[in-house]
Amino acid sequence: MDNSEIADRLDALAALLELVDSNPHAVRAYRRAADTVREAAFPVAELVASGRARELRGIGRSIEARLRELVETGSIAELDELERELAPDLVGLGRYLGLGARRSVELARALGVSTADELREAASEGRLRTAPGIGPKTEARLREALGRERKPRPRQGLVLNRARELVGGIAAALDGEAAGDVRRWRDSCEALAVVCAGEDGPATLEQFETLPQIVTLIEREQRRAVGLTVEGVPVELIVAPPERFGTELVRATGAPTYVAALEPLPEAPDEEAVYRGLELPWCPPELREEPFRGEPPELVELEAIRGDLHCHTRWSDGRASVADMGRAARERGYDYLAICDHTPAVGAVRGLTADDVRRQADEIAAANELLAPFRVLRGIECDILPDGSLDLPDEVLSELEWVQASVHGGQRMPQRQLTARVEEALRNPYVRCLSHPKGRYINRRPENALDLDRVFEVALAEDVAVEVNGLPDRLDLSGEHVRDALGAGVEIVCSTDAHSVRGLANMALSVATARRGWASTANVVNARPLSAILR
Ligand SMILES: [Zn+2]
Ligand SMILES: [Zn+2]
Repeated sequence: MDNSEIADRLDALAALLELVDSNPHAVRAYRRAADTVREAAFPVAELVASGRARELRGIGRSIEARLRELVETGSIAELDELERELAPDLVGLGRYLGLGARRSVELARALGVSTADELREAASEGRLRTAPGIGPKTEARLREALGRERKPRPRQGLVLNRARELVGGIAAALDGEAAGDVRRWRDSCEALAVVCAGEDGPATLEQFETLPQIVTLIEREQRRAVGLTVEGVPVELIVAPPERFGTELVRATGAPTYVAALEPLPEAPDEEAVYRGLELPWCPPELREEPFRGEPPELVELEAIRGDLHCHTRWSDGRASVADMGRAARERGYDYLAICDHTPAVGAVRGLTADDVRRQADEIAAANELLAPFRVLRGIECDILPDGSLDLPDEVLSELEWVQASVHGGQRMPQRQLTARVEEALRNPYVRCLSHPKGRYINRRPENALDLDRVFEVALAEDVAVEVNGLPDRLDLSGEHVRDALGAGVEIVCSTDAHSVRGLANMALSVATARRGWASTANVVNARPLSAILR
């Protein structure tokens, strides 16, 4: 059993414990343990077998016992029992309908049904309202959601990395292509689709139905099905005859208005041939948002990135040391990495004082000796205080090689005030980049009121870049705003804001978001060599 399998089982246990309203601390502990196991650089199963699991961070006695059971028997009895009792297909269908796990199990019990299929049958026979608590209005809503008229959508969009993992996993298992919003790298994914090439539609559909990610099908045709995950997220599968694979892939990838403007699509086995048939150049998926028939620009590629300019270490809220982060960045093929830990005003986590910044310099110098010619840069993620001044004195900032300025507290300031605050910070001569300008958390916190047009004007005048933050729930600037920034002549930095070695991998999300904003290599500061960063 490898680390990711073990982590998945711990995550599944956490999810089910949450369903039965277990102690939230326990649920969080299992989730944290799953993360620890997933990130471990050695086989955790061996550590467990030799009785040393508790050497891992966050693994206490009770989780160790579960790990031992899992490694020795291949399963966790409580998890199996919960999975049986909670009928994942019912839970998935119920959540898709907006019911919540407990409520769907109660509804199923009241109706005397035990599978998602039986629940759907009960609905079509008009029996839903015989269950306590289901009035005519709720019934109508549930029946409409079960109907086939509307496109299946999750109740809330999935953050990109979660959507990529889900759709990518299904595509890999079926030897197909991830399509839909995932292939366009949308920041919140709703249309989740996989396209496969195959002569035998029903056989592939059957394989789809038995995947561990899919708990039930809500639609099934000869060559198309919609499956649900246990979270109630619908995923569409299209099985195209090989000679039409390209056609179906184009159709399942683009936003509806983009595809509609290309129709009718010629039949072709691959996308290149579809576009040739349309007498159009092939278009990168990231640009298939709105109708577009022109020559696409040369977009920046992940391989063009020479370094990461925003990451954290244990000095603030990161999980790894300076040297570990540097080594991991070097292994990615980068030439440099800027360590940008927080300053004290960030509040919730530890921030570096002037003194700390100077002590950290020693550690960075030591890492550089180890990693040369790779270069670890002395950086900071400096808070912008409410009056627009910075959280460290200029004389400290002047020693640093890369300064990010960030608004953390006070995102809800009115537009005038917030914009003036940021403008003031951009005028500081040491600031090189404005972090996560719109301050959003996807699905959790809306964008702030910052006047980007004004900020871009000042950024251009002061030669400050704006960040495309690659944290999966930030992706800030968004593709749309990147396009505005570039239109205003402002340069961008593609950063991960990594808090762990694994977090450095989010560069792919940042670069894809920049591509959605039509960015080319020339627009991206960290696609340049070290000498350009150390101007
Ligand atoms: Zn930040
Ligand atoms: Zn940060």
